[in-house]
Amino acid sequence: MVPIGGLTCCLSAAALYFLGRSSGRDAEVLKSVTRVNQLKELAQLLDTACKVLPLVVTVSGRVGSDTPINCEYSGLRGVIVEQTAEQHFLKHNDAGSWIQDSALMLSMCKEVPWYLDDGAARVHVVGARGATGLVLTVGSEVFEESGRSLVRGTLDYLQGLKMLGVKRIERVLPTGTPLTVVGEAVKDDVGTVRIQRPHKGPFYVSDKTIDQLIANLGKWARLYKYASMGFTVFGVYLLAKHAFQYIMERKRHWEMRKRVLAAAAKRAGQDEEGLNGKSESGPSDHTKKERLMPDLCVICLEQDYNSVFVPCGHMCCCMACSSHLTNCPLCRRRIDQVVKTFRH
Ligand SMILES: [Zn+2]
Ligand SMILES: [Zn+2]
Repeated sequence: MVPIGGLTCCLSAAALYFLGRSSGRDAEVLKSVTRVNQLKELAQLLDTACKVLPLVVTVSGRVGSDTPINCEYSGLRGVIVEQTAEQHFLKHNDAGSWIQDSALMLSMCKEVPWYLDDGAARVHVVGARGATGLVLTVGSEVFEESGRSLVRGTLDYLQGLKMLGVKRIERVLPTGTPLTVVGEAVKDDVGTVRIQRPHKGPFYVSDKTIDQLIANLGKWARLYKYASMGFTVFGVYLLAKHAFQYIMERKRHWEMRKRVLAAAAKRAGQDEEGLNGKSESGPSDHTKKERLMPDLCVICLEQDYNSVFVPCGHMCCCMACSSHLTNCPLCRRRIDQVVKTFRH
């Protein structure tokens, strides 16, 4: 039997440990990025900084665009707009009841060139949709109920589906949102400064400040560390318990085998004494022992065993002795059921 529980705990602990370590590392990286307090300083910084190394910075400002999108449903003006439509329906399942389910019908995302503005300067942000921490505001969420008609109802019934309606959700990054962006700053030939995903390093677009981001990552790193330690302790405990139980079972097994063998030898001796008063040693005696040994009940050592325990499956007792037992004498597992066995 493999100790699944203990192994799972230890593997979870390892996974949590690595998660914690990566969160901790991300926090350290965020602490080391160059903080640009005013966007207009960024262009100068890029001129003076070493041109070979990528410059990872953090900047803050409000979202703006020359060509913002006017949202269809919410009426908001945004720079990233994501629309999804989900079909909601009731499905007839095998058990004969109706369960609610949904399927994504449509998912669209639009993005226009946008920038961060702090009142004095602008910095363009590129590829923000793939960044960590980007949360779009739910601009509108409407549910359009599907109409009911006789034809529709019949069709639904035949398909085992009942249409409920369509849910349309519009998520927006509205203009004017204060954001913090962490990424690589680059300046193109025209002199426009933009921030993009670094080849290696963090890329954040978040409504939290850089200090909040660092604090959050630190918090997660600690949480993962403690959870990892907890799982390790518990996993080791489970493994040790399993090992201990295994050793004890082997020990009991061995002791009972000894007892059964002794009883069988005694009985064989008596039988032979009764027959010719003189026992012969040799291979025939040995095979007799082997044959007699496994058949004896380990409790009374008199009857042959003729019962099997459920669920452990051990066969070592007679039906009479089994009726007094609540746990298996070999493995100590609870006996739920005793099944009589028959030999031919
Ligand atoms: Zn017995
Ligand atoms: Zn057992």
